[in-house]
Amino acid sequence: MKSVKRVVKIGVVELGGNNPVVVQSMTKTKTRDVKATVNQIKRLERAGCELVRLAVVDRKDGAVLNRIKKSVGIPIIADIHFDYRLAMQAIDAGVDKIRINPGNIGESWKVTEVIKKAKDTNTPIRVGVNSGSLPRKILRKHKHPTPAAILDTVDDALAIFRKNHFRDIVISAKGADVKTTITVYEKLNKRFVYPLHLGITEAGLPFRGGIRSAVGLGILLDQGIGDTIRVSLSADPVMEIVAAYEILDSLGLRRHNPVLISCPTCGRCDVKLASIARAVEQRLKRYKKFMKIAVMGCVVNGPGEAREADFGIACGKRTGLIFAKGKEIKRVKEERLIDELFEVIDENIDNR
Ligand code: SF4
Repeated sequence: MKSVKRVVKIGVVELGGNNPVVVQSMTKTKTRDVKATVNQIKRLERAGCELVRLAVVDRKDGAVLNRIKKSVGIPIIADIHFDYRLAMQAIDAGVDKIRINPGNIGESWKVTEVIKKAKDTNTPIRVGVNSGSLPRKILRKHKHPTPAAILDTVDDALAIFRKNHFRDIVISAKGADVKTTITVYEKLNKRFVYPLHLGITEAGLPFRGGIRSAVGLGILLDQGIGDTIRVSLSADPVMEIVAAYEILDSLGLRRHNPVLISCPTCGRCDVKLASIARAVEQRLKRYKKFMKIAVMGCVVNGPGEAREADFGIACGKRTGLIFAKGKEIKRVKEERLIDELFEVIDENIDNR
């Protein structure tokens, strides 16, 4: 069952409460390159991204935030490290949320200044703690970035927010590995009422990173923990969105774009199933509705799976069966399978 957290509004998007888990990503362009950054955000939006974070490295980045915000349709979040003045600049620019890491902002009066400005402008703040940047005093006490050390850091950080009666907070606290991160979030979930941002930090290239994120985020989400997720991948950020929705869909938490299922093939398969599946996946990109498409290799399990999906094909020897909404529609030649499948899909759905 989902843990119900305090609702925090980030522009038009709500985190917490009974809201669905929100999908977010981060741009990989130089923020000051407005054209490239806006283009990337628009691609992310089209893929289903609901919140986007931008690195604000210096005042030049801060100076373009307002222009970027006006050019895109989803709320933007300024990601700030080290210099509290950049957080002040980002809030003045009208960003929808800021992310700070209190561990590297320095003296508490600097954090207090940011909190005061955020309070005056109703700007939420994500308190993002990372195991790689814990304060020295915490590391002296715990020796290593253990879950207890990470939790102590969050506690310390939140004390300043409490003192200033600031509650529009989202928390993230990531460990160096998947298991530490899971332990930390299970404890955060019990301890705090604030929405939780989940992510597996430095997850890696798409294959490894996708698996690590699916394991870490999946275990937490399945316990009802987490209000927004970011899948971190060393790749085009659009892949992060695709992976995020796959994770949410596999747990039945969000339905987004079409989902393709295909069989792994075995000695019974007489067609090039992987290339058929890839071609179907490619053509599905122009569909924005949730539907399940099954591409199956033979008549043993194929018809059963294809019948369970919204649309499906069960391949045979030089021919295949096409299914729609649980019914066998027609038998067609192998070379016509994909075209005929999409003709059936188009006859049955409204893709506007
Ligand atoms: S659907 Fe047929 S070809 Fe595919 S794995 Fe199952 S038995 Fe093998």
